[in-house]
Amino acid sequence: MRALVTGAAGFIGSSLVDRLLNDGHDVVGIDTFTNYYSREIKEKNLSRARDYSNFLLFEKDICRDDVSPLFDGVTDVFHLAGQPGVRKSWGIDFDDYLSWNVLATQRLLEIVKLNGQLRSFVFASSSSVYGNQPKFPSSEMDLPQPVSPYGVTKLAAEHMCCLYAKQFDVPTVSLRYFTVYGPRQRPDMGISKMINALIDEKNFKIYGDGNQLRDFTYIDDVVEANLYAATYAQANTQRGAIFNVGGNGTVSINELIGMMEEISGLKMRKIYSDAMAGDPRTTCADAQKIKNETGWVPSIPIRIGIQDQFNWTKIDKFSN
Ligand code: NAD
Repeated sequence: MRALVTGAAGFIGSSLVDRLLNDGHDVVGIDTFTNYYSREIKEKNLSRARDYSNFLLFEKDICRDDVSPLFDGVTDVFHLAGQPGVRKSWGIDFDDYLSWNVLATQRLLEIVKLNGQLRSFVFASSSSVYGNQPKFPSSEMDLPQPVSPYGVTKLAAEHMCCLYAKQFDVPTVSLRYFTVYGPRQRPDMGISKMINALIDEKNFKIYGDGNQLRDFTYIDDVVEANLYAATYAQANTQRGAIFNVGGNGTVSINELIGMMEEISGLKMRKIYSDAMAGDPRTTCADAQKIKNETGWVPSIPIRIGIQDQFNWTKIDKFSN
C-alpha cells in the first residue's frame, strides 16, 4: 500500500503512520502544524516515523497549498487532519473549524475524485455528530443532532464524503471515533489533563457533576479500525459507509478519576464547576455495524488503557 495520511503529526495520525510503516507500507504524511498545541509535541510524535526511509512528510496546509502532486501513486488515503475540540468551536475560532474540517475535506475529495487507483479514503469523523440523543447506545441509523459547532463541521465533512462517494464513486468510509485516548493523547483532552494534574499534584476542574458518561476508545483500537475500514473499502463496491468506532462500555468522569487514583496511588484535587456548552451528557456507541461489516471490535479494556497512558505520561515527563 502507498498510504497518504493527513494530520500525520497529530495524536491519531502519527500513531497510524507508525503502524503503517511497521507493517511495511510506504507513507506520505501531510501536516501544517497548526498552533492548537505545541509543535514540539507533534515533532516528538513523528520521531519514530522519521527513521524510516519510506516515510515522507510534507509541511503543507490542505486548504491553502496545492497538495495534488503528493497523491501520485497513492492507493489509500487516511484523512485525519482537522481542528478538534468541542469547547473552542464557539465564537471567533469557528473559522478554523470551517476551514480545517469542512474545506480541507472538500479539497481532498476534489483531488481524488477522478483517481482510478484509489482503493480507500478513510475519514476521521466523530461521535460529536450525535449530540444529546433521546436513547443510547447511538447507532449510525440515529438522526445526528450535534450540540457543538465542531460536531456540525464533522457532520458536514461526513456528508461531503458520502456525496463524493455517490457522485464520483470515491471509496469513502467515515469513522465516528468515540473519545480516543492512550499515549500521545492531545494535551487539551480530559484523560491527558487528569493524569498530568495527578502527577503534578495540581487542581483538576470537572465541568458538571462528573456523572456524565463517556465511551472511550484506546488508540491502538482506533488505528486498527482505520486499517479495517481501508480493507472494507478495498473489497466493497458499496461507497460512503459510516461506522461508529467505540462500544467499549461507558464510564463516568468520577469513575474514571477513581480508577486513576487506584492505578497511581495518588489523590486527585477535584474542583467542580458548571458544565460547558457543547459537551454532551452521554456518549455511547452501538458498534454492531462495524463489527458485522468489517470484523472490527475494540479490544483494550479501559483500565489497561489508562494504566498504559499513565505509564507513558510519566516516562515522557521525566525524560525531558
Ligand atoms: P490532532 O490535533 O492531534 O491532529 C490533527 C492534525 O491535523 C494536527 O497535527 C494539525 O496540525 C493537522 N492539520 C489540521 N488542519 C490541517 C490542514 N488544513 N492541513 C494539514 N494539516 C492540518 O488531533 P487528533 O486528536 O489526532 O484527531 C485527529 C482527527 O480525528 C481530527 O480530525 C479529529 O477531529 C478527529 N477526532 C478525534 C477524536 C479524539 O478523541 N482525539 C475524536 C473524534 C474525532
